[in-house]
Amino acid sequence: MSEQSAHQKYEFKKKLENLRTKKGRGTELVSLYIPPDKQISDITSQLKIEHGQASNIKSKLTKTNVQGAIDSLLSRLRYVDVPENGIVYFTGAVDVGADKTNMETTIIEPPQPIITYRYHCDSSFFLEPLEEMLKEAKTYGLLVLDRREATIGLLTGKHIESYRHLTSTVPGKQRKGGQSAHRFQQLRLIAIHDFYKRIGDAASDVFMTVDHKNFEGVLLGGPSPTKEEFQSGEFFHHEIQKKLAGMFDVAYTDESGLSELVNAAGDKLMDLDLMVEKNLMQDFFKELVSDSGKATYGEDNVRENLMVGAVDILLISEDLRAERETIRCTSCGFEKKVTKEFRIGEAGESLGNCQQCGSPLEVVEKIDVVDELSALSDQMGSRVEFISTDFVEGDQLLNAFGGIVAVLRYNTGI
Ligand SMILES: [Zn+2]
Repeated sequence: MSEQSAHQKYEFKKKLENLRTKKGRGTELVSLYIPPDKQISDITSQLKIEHGQASNIKSKLTKTNVQGAIDSLLSRLRYVDVPENGIVYFTGAVDVGADKTNMETTIIEPPQPIITYRYHCDSSFFLEPLEEMLKEAKTYGLLVLDRREATIGLLTGKHIESYRHLTSTVPGKQRKGGQSAHRFQQLRLIAIHDFYKRIGDAASDVFMTVDHKNFEGVLLGGPSPTKEEFQSGEFFHHEIQKKLAGMFDVAYTDESGLSELVNAAGDKLMDLDLMVEKNLMQDFFKELVSDSGKATYGEDNVRENLMVGAVDILLISEDLRAERETIRCTSCGFEKKVTKEFRIGEAGESLGNCQQCGSPLEVVEKIDVVDELSALSDQMGSRVEFISTDFVEGDQLLNAFGGIVAVLRYNTGI
């Protein structure tokens, strides 16, 4: 997913979330994974076999629905031009409540190649291969250290790779004869500081080779209090320092320490995304309370700051669902833009009449606010981060700040 923007990743994630909520009455939802090199004619003949076998299904309704889904796929495959990573179809009679089902199809062009052809029929869609891709895209920086040595690596998906190994010239605790205790202690502290600095520089170099969009955070391992000492000394590049996601006790500081670190992080790796998001929100709150003028919130203020290129980091709530509509008068051409928050299935309000001539208004353009602001950020070189609502500050972002805030590069007075 290295070619993907944070925004594409967000769209992909949103589609998977949506698919995960869909259920069939029986085992009648079909998931079809087509690898890029698979012959469509082969798939067509396999689907025809599945269609025949479906006639053995006892429930008449399920049988009809499964065969309907397969028919729909067969007609789509007649015109398909398989993209370079393959294509995935999710088709079936989805339970929409009130004793009704709705035949739905979602098509996904995956961010990574489909390896295995799969035909899967169940009461929910089969999403694991795509969910794996979401995970694999993530990269963590790994650093294990004590005062003698340090090892730097990257965790991409489940793959750990070691990049650098450093050793120190820090003298042991026993001083040689002839040195004063004070002088010895001083030299020792200088040597430790120098070693930490070398580690920080080398680790920052390695971590900054990773596209920041895929870079989830840094895991720091080692004995206590060495790692805490390293962390509080801020030896990383400041961009990397911000991404520190967790510290863990590990016994080894050579290459094997890297796997020990990943194991120690274990289940917490899932929560680490959250920690990074938490840090981003805390940066925002820090600016907000400091009165530096470098925090801004609300869609209009953020948009204005984006347009003058002042936004460093744009923070958008993952649960923000809003559209920007351009509304025009059918008679005099008067035009305005309004933002509407919406919930799926909710009916829109009426547009009313033109404030200049009283003629009816019409919507001439609709764009997702997230799309609009992301595009603007790309143009202006601002970084976009999506924040979940799974923690207090993330929930505040959505409910107290309208889902959109930004940390600015400088105070614009907007
Ligand atoms: Zn008008």
